[in-house]
Amino acid sequence: MMQTTHLSEEDTPVPSGVTPDAAGVYQTAGKAFDLIDRHRTPPSPQAYALWYAYVSGNDPLLVARVDEVIAAKGELSLYDIESIHWELVATGAGDAATMQIGDAIEREIESVLGIIRQGAASNDVYHASLSAVGSRLPDSPSVEDLAGLISKLVEDNRRMAETTQELSQGLSESQTQLEALNQELAEAQSQSLKDPLTAIPNRRAFAKRLDENIADAARTGKTLCVAMADIDHFKKVNDVYGHPAGDAFLKMFSTLITRNIKGQDMVARIGGEEFAIILPQTEIIAAYNLFVRIKSVLKASELVLDDGTCISGITASFGVACLEPGMNANDLINQADKFLYEAKNAGRDKVKAAGF
Ligand code: GH3
Ligand code: MG
Ligand code: MG
Repeated sequence: MMQTTHLSEEDTPVPSGVTPDAAGVYQTAGKAFDLIDRHRTPPSPQAYALWYAYVSGNDPLLVARVDEVIAAKGELSLYDIESIHWELVATGAGDAATMQIGDAIEREIESVLGIIRQGAASNDVYHASLSAVGSRLPDSPSVEDLAGLISKLVEDNRRMAETTQELSQGLSESQTQLEALNQELAEAQSQSLKDPLTAIPNRRAFAKRLDENIADAARTGKTLCVAMADIDHFKKVNDVYGHPAGDAFLKMFSTLITRNIKGQDMVARIGGEEFAIILPQTEIIAAYNLFVRIKSVLKASELVLDDGTCISGITASFGVACLEPGMNANDLINQADKFLYEAKNAGRDKVKAAGF
């Protein structure tokens, strides 16, 4: 297991005049840069965010994942950084929303328990009062005795009825609250599986679905293909037309893929301009042909911006892999990634797969 080197205070110079809190941030940042350097990690904002989170040690899951990859491969590739970033760093917002709702539900449950305890207490009081009335009754009660008893019972009953009404009103309000929270929770859970820009599934949803589909394929013996798609020279689209135009293009590309797949297929945005497609029960030849078609449709597509600017001729590269016996999700992803890089190296605007 890899150990982080705890640099001494002098290792990372802290500008004078900064508060102790800010000094801590400088120290953590310095250590993150040191790790980028030591592990020859490609320096990118995601790599920095990842190593920063690693050094701060606030997320044990992230630390364990990084240690695991370093122990296995001795370095963190761009793919490792992106996958850990998208899975564990970038989705923090969704988790926070879920946690808030969880807290609210806990508070609501506490309040229901309070109401029920209060109900039990008033039942006990009612019970004690009734028992007391019963034991005060003489063997041969007079009319006055009975009248006193009846008025006591009427009074107790009225009090109990009031408490019960408050009780049932409290419970029904609580029920409404819980139903609303449950709906919010379902919404937050579905948001945590969605990419906010394109509204298609995100990397986390992709990983979850891929595991399920691999288990299905192992059970049924059916085929399963996975493709990685990466827009070619996308940086140029941003540089020439601006970042919002780049965003609009990403939305168009995700819609284009969504329209060309069907049924149980899934497309997910797994990185900036990278998409993964799962095609259950699909032979490699059919998958290859599908991406050749998508590739041509993309190349012929035009995106017209609000100001009339037309973006056209943008291409993408595709790597397609097919599940073979003994392969796990990572093997399948790595295989598709390997073909994607072959497609890039072959000049881009290509589909590569085993045998093609
Ligand atoms: P290649 O053909 O090798 O894939 O080149 P590329 O330019 O597509 O690849 P590179 O990895 O160099 O750049 C990816 C670019 O994608 C850089 C980054 O600014 C852009 N990008 C990533 N996420 C987003 C996003 O959400 N919106 C926009 N507009 N751009 C993004
Ligand atoms: Mg890329
Ligand atoms: Mg690209």
